[in-house]
Amino acid sequence: MTKPNPFKISQMQLDRCAKTLHLDQNIHEILRVPMREIHVSLPVRMDDGTMRIFQGFRIQYNDAKGPTKGGIRFHPDETIDTVRALAAWMTWKCALMDLPLGGAKGGIICNPKELSPIELENLSRTYIRSIYNFIGPNKDIPAPDVYTNSQIMAWMMDEYSKIAGENKFGVITGKPIRLGGSVGRDDATGRGGIYIIQEAIKEYNIDLEKSTFAIQGYGNAGYYAAHLTKALLGSKIVAISDSKGGIYNENGLDPESVLEHKRLTGSVINMPNTENITNQELLELNVDILIPSALEDIIDKNNAPNIKAKIVAELANGPTTPEADDILYQKGIHVIPDFLCNAGGVTVSYFEMVQNASIYYWEEAQVHSILEKRMKNAYYTVLNTSKKYKVSMREAAYIVAVGRVADAMKLRGWV
Ligand code: GLU
Repeated sequence: MTKPNPFKISQMQLDRCAKTLHLDQNIHEILRVPMREIHVSLPVRMDDGTMRIFQGFRIQYNDAKGPTKGGIRFHPDETIDTVRALAAWMTWKCALMDLPLGGAKGGIICNPKELSPIELENLSRTYIRSIYNFIGPNKDIPAPDVYTNSQIMAWMMDEYSKIAGENKFGVITGKPIRLGGSVGRDDATGRGGIYIIQEAIKEYNIDLEKSTFAIQGYGNAGYYAAHLTKALLGSKIVAISDSKGGIYNENGLDPESVLEHKRLTGSVINMPNTENITNQELLELNVDILIPSALEDIIDKNNAPNIKAKIVAELANGPTTPEADDILYQKGIHVIPDFLCNAGGVTVSYFEMVQNASIYYWEEAQVHSILEKRMKNAYYTVLNTSKKYKVSMREAAYIVAVGRVADAMKLRGWV
């Protein structure tokens, strides 16, 4: 079976919204493709003395609303079209959250699990040297994404600062706290999703204390979603998975023990007192809330008819294909679309930019309370739009976000 092309999917989603919005044809044409693409070859000295050439990308999708913003992924299956789609989704995400930012994404085709720390550092620094002229605090600001973390952001910020000849903390977000990072950035993606779930359950008769969750993916977003599901909502997580498979226990899983087991063994599977299940089985469990937190296209037309959750909260980017979207909508499942549900990460990244620019750092309570307000506002804006136009939550999110980017383009005189 050929994998769906995420960029084609993002274009289909835009086309659908363009129709509903009666979008100006020129605006539609500009928004269908990225504004700028940078392709780089990255020669890296390996620990055994040999050179290896990696391929990297940075896609700046649209900057009508401000400098472009978005993470960098390190992944063996990275493709240019995945990065294009992710850059488009960042554009809609920033617009939906009303941040003064456009959208971008970066990627390097590599398997970070097979690289030593020194090789990883060399690769990160080489990437920044290659894209130096195209990024900057007022141009394009990268951040972490799949398989990148605060240490990698620190190396990248350092490399950029060395070339600039001065400290440029504002060039990248998701940095360690000691190096201009923001408190509350680590758990921001999961936390933002949980704040929205708190509101979404009001549409259904779900009692949080009795509700059950299944979480697919146990990286940064998945782990913090699990941690906060227990800590903030008091709900039960019955299943968790990662790329190797999943585990199930009807009496509930402890997120910290699962994390420790994954740290020790490399996966969540084979955890004592749990039953091993497949990722596919996890998606189809009879739970109240399903949280896809890993990669694209995992809910498709084949498994969508079997999904039993009442709410699908998309912490991953692009987990649902358009055919699956229609099926879930017809089944009355409340899908909280990715660029709404996972927008907590970039929102706190924006707070980090504000703190870097003002050289004044906030307290955690302030980060949490402004994040909560912004996430809940965005949720109700999308919910009300979906009711007004009688469309799915995803289409509603597109209507709001694309409308805002289109307004900015018109005001700037681009069309
Ligand atoms: N990579 C994250 C996302 O997909 C965060 C981006 C950022 O903080 O700029 O939203």
